[in-house]
Amino acid sequence: MSRPQDLADAFMQDIRDRNENQPEFLQAVAEVAHDVLPIEKNDPALAAAKILARLSEPDRIISFRVVWEDDKGEVQINRGWRVQFSNVIGPYKGGLRFHPSVNESVLKFLGFEQIFKNALTGLPLGGAKGGSDFDPKGRSANEVMRFCQAFMAELGRYIGPDRDVPAGDINVGTREIGYLFGAYKKLQGEFHGALTGKGRTFGGSAMRVEATGYGLIYFVECMLAERGDSLEGKRVAISGKGNVASHAAEKAICQGAKVISLSDTSGTLVAEDGMSQEVIEWVRARKRAGEDITSPPATFGVTFRDGALPWDLGADIALPCATQNEIDADAAKSLVESGTKLVAEGANMPLNGAAVDIVRDAGLLYAPGKAANAGGVAISGLEMSQNAHRRSMQADEVDAELAKIMRGIHDRTMAEGKDGDSIDYRRGANIAGYRKVAKAMASYGII
Ligand code: NDP
Repeated sequence: MSRPQDLADAFMQDIRDRNENQPEFLQAVAEVAHDVLPIEKNDPALAAAKILARLSEPDRIISFRVVWEDDKGEVQINRGWRVQFSNVIGPYKGGLRFHPSVNESVLKFLGFEQIFKNALTGLPLGGAKGGSDFDPKGRSANEVMRFCQAFMAELGRYIGPDRDVPAGDINVGTREIGYLFGAYKKLQGEFHGALTGKGRTFGGSAMRVEATGYGLIYFVECMLAERGDSLEGKRVAISGKGNVASHAAEKAICQGAKVISLSDTSGTLVAEDGMSQEVIEWVRARKRAGEDITSPPATFGVTFRDGALPWDLGADIALPCATQNEIDADAAKSLVESGTKLVAEGANMPLNGAAVDIVRDAGLLYAPGKAANAGGVAISGLEMSQNAHRRSMQADEVDAELAKIMRGIHDRTMAEGKDGDSIDYRRGANIAGYRKVAKAMASYGII
């Protein structure tokens, strides 16, 4: 039998030729190919149907111009995209990201990952991603609103509750979803759940804001429980200061852990004895105001390390929650050398390929984002069903459901990734997600 790496190398040759200059997308496909091609090759029906090759080509990519006026009356032009990757098991579903680094490669990697992540949740959700190279930093609320309205004037015709249901991602939170949904509702003349992450007073689900960060901690608790361990007293290093990072920090503290860092592009906030909720609230307020975290109040007992990363702090557990490829080989070596035992991805693909190899080879437990950060999209799935049924679940009901869903994702991942005493969560997540989508895809015939 061919080695997984040989199969993946042969497969990637064609993918590389067809997707030149798309490093993030190639990275995401190569990792899945390595784990699932041996399964596909050994199943004549799936092999003949070329499932992974078909899944590696988006159903469609919509790209459009977004024109809006800034506060000075100057015309601004941005690019917008929606990558509708796969609706094999449900309507296209995935977030919108507003950031100057957004391009087709980044959105294709995120949309591709979303196919497997959404399948893992057990909910009927397809995979998609979208966004713009718009930079909201330094923009007024009115400018952000005008941008969102112009963006939706184009995107609106391609989405809908049974077609494609976008949500938030980097720099797209409850405020932006409010502007986007307001514009969608006006354009369509109908009120239905074509976006998730909405405010609670107009169809949003309880706990959607908290879901990704809380879900990440529930997933880590499942990993630890498998080894008869818990979060109690563990030192947890977290990167990022946004939605995922701050809610992961909050829940980790609730569960008895010591959160020793949060970070942004200016550097890292370090709390050797563990962070309080007050520090998290301060970080959130800085993020809302579009400010950095360089000057925490002296009374907090935390220090700011200019330009530093949090991976050499001697954490037991590392939760990268900022952005893709934030951990390179050097950062991964710092994690290993400082004694970290578990890495779980809150962000999407925060470890580059070399970093993943380093932490896995060193024997650290490693959970990929497509399993560990799926809590957000899972609660978006619940928001869709609440909207369809015109009902609203209570926060404790949603939180209990989130914990159950994360346990389900953990167990599905473990069932495919367990090998003797060890669990390969990456392999398990890729195979479990792939099996579900592949089975459905094969049932449709060649389309
Ligand atoms: P936010 O916009 O809320 O926050 C992102 C923060 O990350 C920003 O404050 C930014 O800092 C910081 N950041 C960016 N790059 C770096 C870096 N290299 N080092 C340190 N900090 C950095 O985004 P989210 O929390 O929503 O998303 C974070 C990650 O989680 C993304 O990968 C996203 O795709 C993923 N994710 C999000 C979900 C959600 O529900 N929101 C669901 C699943 C995954 P600065 O202010 O300095 O720019």
